[in-house]
Amino acid sequence: MVRIQGIIPCWSIEQEVRKPMRRKLIAGNWKMHGSLMQNESLLRALIGAQSPDHVDMAVLVPAPYLDQVRQILQGTNCAWGAQDVSDEVRGAFTGEMAASMLGEFGCRYAIVGHSERRQRHGETDALVARKAQRALEAGLTPIVCLGESLEQRERGETKSVVRRQFGAIIEVLGAEGISMSTLAYEPIWAIGTGRSATAAQAQEVHGWLRQQMAEHAETVAAGLRILYGGSVKASNAVELMSQPDVDGALVGGASLVAEEFLAIARAAAQ
Ligand code: PEP
Repeated sequence: MVRIQGIIPCWSIEQEVRKPMRRKLIAGNWKMHGSLMQNESLLRALIGAQSPDHVDMAVLVPAPYLDQVRQILQGTNCAWGAQDVSDEVRGAFTGEMAASMLGEFGCRYAIVGHSERRQRHGETDALVARKAQRALEAGLTPIVCLGESLEQRERGETKSVVRRQFGAIIEVLGAEGISMSTLAYEPIWAIGTGRSATAAQAQEVHGWLRQQMAEHAETVAAGLRILYGGSVKASNAVELMSQPDVDGALVGGASLVAEEFLAIARAAAQ
């Protein structure tokens, strides 16, 4: 296990005796969408609206827009972050973004291991774990994506795939690192397809994943935020968000429409 230096956990693993309250997070993954003009109107609509109490909100934007997003969201209750981070600290790595650089732009979060990167860029479980570690070292919260393909689900391999992905993360971060991370269960077949997992399917994997964590550290499992991602929209958010082990959502397409994104946040607040 690698210890993460210089980061104070929000609650101590040893001292925690009560079940911590998990605050829901609704995070919008803009993917490779947006323009300076579109971002401005989307962000102004988000901060101009009444956002729900007791729910954290964030947008995860293409790197060229981080400065714009920082200028608009600074001092609001919507955080921001990046969609990827390098597993290296600094050096001759053309095209990569160091976690410390994201920190300079006020990022609170960085997605790691999104299936679009695992598939298109050949990111392995071990690489994803190192990326999460770099994010933590720079004081960012990694949002670590896990999830199975349709073929894997149909072969009954969902749990073995997610167990393997999670195993790589815990091996590198240890329970302490996981306590400062957020997980996102994102079945690949539900991403961008309009076909969300049912609330029962999501709950089954989330509850099981929390149990996997509990086998390492029960208190970390109780406080671990596990988001669901895959075709979340205003119309299915209430049911998904009401599941006991669903602690928010990673939202792709619907995060580009202010009213949809806000409606999902309001659903999480119920
Ligand atoms: C995602 O890209 O993380 C995602 C969940 O996308 P969508 O909501 O569009 O399915």
